Amino acid sequence: MHIIDRTYIDGKFIEPHGDEWAPLFNPATEEQIGSVRLADAQDADRAVAAAKRAFSTFSNTAKEERIDMLNRLHAAVLARTDDLACAMREEYGAPSNFIGFSAPRAGMVFLEMARTLKDYEFRRRMGSADVEMRPSGVAVAITPWNSNYSFICGKLSAAIAAGATMMIKPSEMSALQTQVITECLHAAGLPSGIFNIVTGYGNVVGAALTTHRDVSKITFTGSTATGRRIVQTAAATMKRVTMELGGKCPTVILDDADLEVVIPQVLAAGFRNSGQACIAGTRILAPESRLNEIEERLSHTVKEFRAGYPADDQVQVGPMVSQKQWDRVQSYIRLGQEEGARLLAGGEGRPEGLHRGWFVKPTIFTGVRNDMRIAREEIFGPVLSLIPYRDEEDAIAIANDSDYGLQAHVFSSDVERAKRVANQIEAGRVFINDAPHDPLAPFGGFKQSGIGREFGVFGLEAFLEPRAVLSLRYKYCAARGLRGIIFSTPRRPCGRGSRE
Ligand code: NDP
Repeated sequence: MHIIDRTYIDGKFIEPHGDEWAPLFNPATEEQIGSVRLADAQDADRAVAAAKRAFSTFSNTAKEERIDMLNRLHAAVLARTDDLACAMREEYGAPSNFIGFSAPRAGMVFLEMARTLKDYEFRRRMGSADVEMRPSGVAVAITPWNSNYSFICGKLSAAIAAGATMMIKPSEMSALQTQVITECLHAAGLPSGIFNIVTGYGNVVGAALTTHRDVSKITFTGSTATGRRIVQTAAATMKRVTMELGGKCPTVILDDADLEVVIPQVLAAGFRNSGQACIAGTRILAPESRLNEIEERLSHTVKEFRAGYPADDQVQVGPMVSQKQWDRVQSYIRLGQEEGARLLAGGEGRPEGLHRGWFVKPTIFTGVRNDMRIAREEIFGPVLSLIPYRDEEDAIAIANDSDYGLQAHVFSSDVERAKRVANQIEAGRVFINDAPHDPLAPFGGFKQSGIGREFGVFGLEAFLEPRAVLSLRYKYCAARGLRGIIFSTPRRPCGRGSRE
């Protein structure tokens, strides 16, 4: 049994004031594996006070000092890659293919942000003004359970690069991962208070942090519904917000695509992180002219996407994080059938041979119209919708007919054609032919998928505020015995009331 009874404030693991406990489960067995003691609003206040104290010094550190900190954080997280992987497997049930990507990448974001920081110019001359990019202040990061330590590292790396201090409130369902990542970050030996990590309920600690008057910036990853509430609350004190929210991402298969190659990639994009991913390609847009062939290939290839125990390397789809999430996904599988869609694969209940654990059958619906709820709402599980389209224009219209706009995929044998399509899709990121992730490319969504961007320069600037200084120098004009005013540009003759 894991007992997590400390919270991290002002550089120390301390006993929280909050005395409520939350159970932790292994979603593959449904067994309780531990308990976490939750912080409360008073702990949130202490964390803000520590971050505020640290801000005055940290916000004035030199770029080189912060690059050094980012490098130390990278090394400290990298050293615990295996522990992060174990915690994620035990507590969240992520399959090996996802853990294999996310655990080694967690520390990399610090290194990538250090590179961005190295080339970033904090001071610029704009017109007659000296503009300096200043850290936006004391920031709050709120993260969900589906990629716990990656979100923590991503958000913290940008705050450190900017010179902002931070409170982090992760989902309490990820307390094991939070414990390991906090130990890593602590081992980097940064000055106290620069980051503080308080696990607690969203409506208690999250609410206390996002309404706190000493907080000036919120970076949130989670559902659009919660994001909306936070933005409304933040407006009262004009806090800056970065919102990384939900998605219902389209995967457009163009009619010239090589289906042999593409179909496994389409399914991998749809079932990413067991379907518990905002970026999962859950709407598969298929040309009517090749619909039968695509249906056949999908129902054949989906058999390779096995659901099962995350420790098994052959497993592609792990369990849902909780009973609640399992129930929610099941309700959408029922809904799809009630709406008139046809099951091409999967369906309700557990996969064959699995009698315990919050496992879902990898499910594909065909005959889906884009106005059905299964095509419009984020299910957050391994449930895909196959939607036919007439021509390219229709495909783009369907892809864009969504409240969301986080990410999209386009598959084609003709990259230039795929780019033409990609350029018309309303999404923060469009991948052509399964191109790899690029850590310098901005990440974030159009429409209700969010506000702002993370990673690279955009991610750094999300924690910065430009301050323009427009200077004016008085000069005694000896010739006339008058005071003239000098602007640096443009130069004009000195005289009464004139500006030089
Ligand atoms: P939620 O929105 O329910 O929760 C996210 C975080 O917000 C949790 O830490 C939660 O705490 C906290 N929270 C809840 N209520 C409040 C509040 N009133 N004030 C402050 N914080 C609060 O999302 P889930 O945890 O269910 O995560 C899944 C969602 O995240 C999906 O919709 C998914 O699309 C989205 N997501 C977006 C990504 C992106 O980058 N765009 C990436 C990954 C996921 P608590 O756990 O205690 O409720």
